[in-house]
Amino acid sequence: MRQIDHFIAGGAAGGASVRAGDVFNPSTGEVQARVALGTSIELDRAVAAAQAAQPGWAATNPQRRARVMFRFKELVEREMDSLAHLLASEHGKVIADARGDVQRGLDVIEFAAGIPHAQKGEYTQGAGPGIDVYSMRQPIGIGAGITPFNFPAMIPMWMFGPAIAVGNAFILKPSERDPSVPVRLAELMLEAGLPEGILQVVHGDKEMVDAILDHPAISAVSFVGSSDIAQYVYARGVAAGKRVQAMGGAKNHGIVMPDADLDQVVKDLCGAAFGSAGERCMALPVAVPVGEKTANELREALIPAIAALKVGVSNDADAHYGPVVTAAHKARIEGWIQTGIDEGAELVVDGRGFTMQGHENGFFVGPTLLDRVTPAMRCYQEEIFGPVLQIIRAPDFETALRLPSDHQYGNGVAIFTRNGHAAREFAQRVNVGMVGINVPIPVPVAYHSFGGWKRSGFGDHNQHGMEGVRFWTKVKTVTQRWPDGSVTGENAFVIPTMV
Ligand code: NAD
Repeated sequence: MRQIDHFIAGGAAGGASVRAGDVFNPSTGEVQARVALGTSIELDRAVAAAQAAQPGWAATNPQRRARVMFRFKELVEREMDSLAHLLASEHGKVIADARGDVQRGLDVIEFAAGIPHAQKGEYTQGAGPGIDVYSMRQPIGIGAGITPFNFPAMIPMWMFGPAIAVGNAFILKPSERDPSVPVRLAELMLEAGLPEGILQVVHGDKEMVDAILDHPAISAVSFVGSSDIAQYVYARGVAAGKRVQAMGGAKNHGIVMPDADLDQVVKDLCGAAFGSAGERCMALPVAVPVGEKTANELREALIPAIAALKVGVSNDADAHYGPVVTAAHKARIEGWIQTGIDEGAELVVDGRGFTMQGHENGFFVGPTLLDRVTPAMRCYQEEIFGPVLQIIRAPDFETALRLPSDHQYGNGVAIFTRNGHAAREFAQRVNVGMVGINVPIPVPVAYHSFGGWKRSGFGDHNQHGMEGVRFWTKVKTVTQRWPDGSVTGENAFVIPTMV
């Protein structure tokens, strides 16, 4: 059985602990590897290596740090195919989608390659007589990232690209479900010229997460995962005096106005609700048609589009999406479908009990459509994170606007319309962090920033873009005067002012 080790101080490191977790191939249902589940012992070793390496890395001029990012990008592009296959074999998403996972992470690496510009401080000449003020953005020291299973390449790169480019050491605790690609990325960073100890990977579950949150030498923690754990990580990390950003779950709505281009909407909804088996925090699992006529037309158009979807193993080039991540998650999704039926939703397309010939033990869930869902239903209130699209009918624009605004999650939302005024009004007023206008998955490009509101995001700064630079640096402000040697003025016992 393949063993997945920690990556500490520039090399594979076995664990002191005997605990290990199963890594499945979701397409077959088989265990394909075992991952070490570490403890504070491995974390202490990683922190010691980070402490030894970080001052030298922070003192390296930013252009040289940026060049490591350039070389890393070339290496990842060289290995794109093998990374995508490795990723798909542990996650279950199809190969083309796995390539997208890697590419969206590389976009952030490209942003990080511009770090000399992004990290510049501010300067005011003559803020007072002979006085200049300037600020600099210094690295926070050692940062950590705790990442979810659903983007095992992109989300680690969201974090370690900016964190490392600005001069920090970074310790990554990837999801124990698909941990191989994060380790491979750390190996490639070393090959790209990153000093040992600057990017390390420790594996584990809650025990390792708690060790990270409690470690006094780790100054900042970035977390992405489900909301209850995000809130826990935020509270415990902040109580330990750390800077914490913690992104949580989602339930994104797509508002379909009566004037929308319905053919386009159906294509967009199918891709955004069922792509990656719905296991995206920016998936679009709730369609909100405005008016009964729109709702009926949408439903009728969705039924054949859903019937045409092809579910397949992750390396089937014709498949639209693959299996979900574990058998437990498959059971959970099917449980939510049953809850929806029990709560009175209408099951239009049932994806439960889906099996594939030759892959009977794979974790497949067929595409599912529920209509006449209401805000009172738990199946609407909670995140399902599977290939389940729900229709919740709204009589008018104001009701449609209120649904995502009042929902506990506020990650992403989309509106489909040809009416510029309605779109603008919606974008201004909706209580959600990322908005798409005729764009179903509005994940911002790397030089903007990613982050949801309400229970989708705890903490202040978003991921990547200038928000990422701010999160991974602290500002130092210098007020300087260079006197000419002549002693002037009285002793100052009053707070200096510039009046
Ligand atoms: P998860 O919360 O189960 O796991 C995330 C991380 O937390 C993993 O590294 C895991 O090892 C760790 N963890 C698990 N249980 C823990 C515990 N009890 N205490 C401490 N740490 C623990 O999430 P997941 O299933 O891997 O990922 C799916 C979730 O992530 C969904 O809710 C999805 O919406 C969310 N997500 C959010 C974003 C975003 O940016 N908002 C992006 C991707 C995924």
